[in-house]
Amino acid sequence: MRAFSYTRATSPEAAIASQAATGARILAGGTTLYDLMKLDVESPSHLVDVTRISGLSDIQIERDELVFGALTRMSDAAAHPAVLQRAPVLAESLSKAASQQLRNMATLGGNLLQRTRCAYFRNGPEYPCNKRTPGSGCAAIAGLDRGHALLGGSSSCIAVYPGDWAVALVALDATVDVLGPGGMRSVPVAELHRLPGETPHLETVLSPDEMILRIRVPVGQIGQTSTYHKIRDRESYAFALVSAAVALELDDGVVRQARIALGGVATRPWRVPAAEAVLAGRRLDRAAALEAGRLAFTDARPGRHNGFKVALGAEAVADALMIAAERSMRR
Ligand code: SF4
Repeated sequence: MRAFSYTRATSPEAAIASQAATGARILAGGTTLYDLMKLDVESPSHLVDVTRISGLSDIQIERDELVFGALTRMSDAAAHPAVLQRAPVLAESLSKAASQQLRNMATLGGNLLQRTRCAYFRNGPEYPCNKRTPGSGCAAIAGLDRGHALLGGSSSCIAVYPGDWAVALVALDATVDVLGPGGMRSVPVAELHRLPGETPHLETVLSPDEMILRIRVPVGQIGQTSTYHKIRDRESYAFALVSAAVALELDDGVVRQARIALGGVATRPWRVPAAEAVLAGRRLDRAAALEAGRLAFTDARPGRHNGFKVALGAEAVADALMIAAERSMRR
């Protein structure tokens, strides 16, 4: 790891001022950033620690909204009774991510900004990687792509967005409050992450001197009948091969509204409106759920080793829909 300087901010305004003045990187839980610094993927000369800023580590329960401070620990949000009851998809996306030790450290804001697990990106610099070294190429496209994207990729990058929490947030139409030198703005989580296009090193719409302060999640009835279904190589401490965040509103078994987002298969959290639309007004049974699951992967472009995710993903969506439907019937 390269040498760096360190300061501690006592307010969000001080943190973003430090970013603007020194090009500092924000340090919250550190579970991704320290890893990448040890691998020399990231080499900031200055870190600004925001973990002691007050008022950003709580969960506010509003009538139609859950509001998460960006410094809330993953484990705290996953175990919060209101989150478990009003939006189980959120709690499950967190409890199925990482390890308990990491969840105790990692923050919700930092989790949103985690970077890809592409081995060529992390283990360079001997491999060409446009994300790590713009213009150098992409070793994954002709290489080992089992864990890479079927959706949203480009000829420059096919790296999967690795998170779970953001996928659940996209299913629930969440937004983030962001502070920058020009003041506050609100960004839908669905628009937070960029497609790679020709510039895969630009991963979000945030500028380098902005900071996520809060995450706002609208949670009506549909939040309560939701689930996060994650398929992985082993049942703990593994990233998704494919995941589905699903929220349903049913009326006597007939779908009034369905929300479906995919993880583990796309370059950013991936909402599938066509799969949602095909369910509207239909009685939800296994055949309808599987039809929606297959539709979710209509645009998939498998590579050399990840084609198995098309069928696996369709089944995962169908399973998630049936889990959510069962929750609806129990209510
Ligand atoms: Fe780099 Fe993206 Fe290619 Fe991985 S998939 S090697 S991150 S450019």
